[in-house]
Amino acid sequence: MKIKCPTCKNKTVWKGNPHRPFCSERCKLIDLGKWASEKYRIEGRSEDTVASSSNEKDA
Ligand SMILES: [Zn+2]
Repeated sequence: MKIKCPTCKNKTVWKGNPHRPFCSERCKLIDLGKWASEKYRIEGRSEDTVASSSNEKDA
């Protein structure tokens, strides 16, 4: 079964995916970061991954 990652829209697998419905932990954190960006910023980010604000037009 294939699903689409809500964060990056890439296809990923559901089965055996520990980060579902995301494709990776990074996408999961990005999604959480929408409401808790300050908290998760320190969670192992060495670079400014979210090329910010391109992703923030949800209501
Ligand atoms: Zn993703």
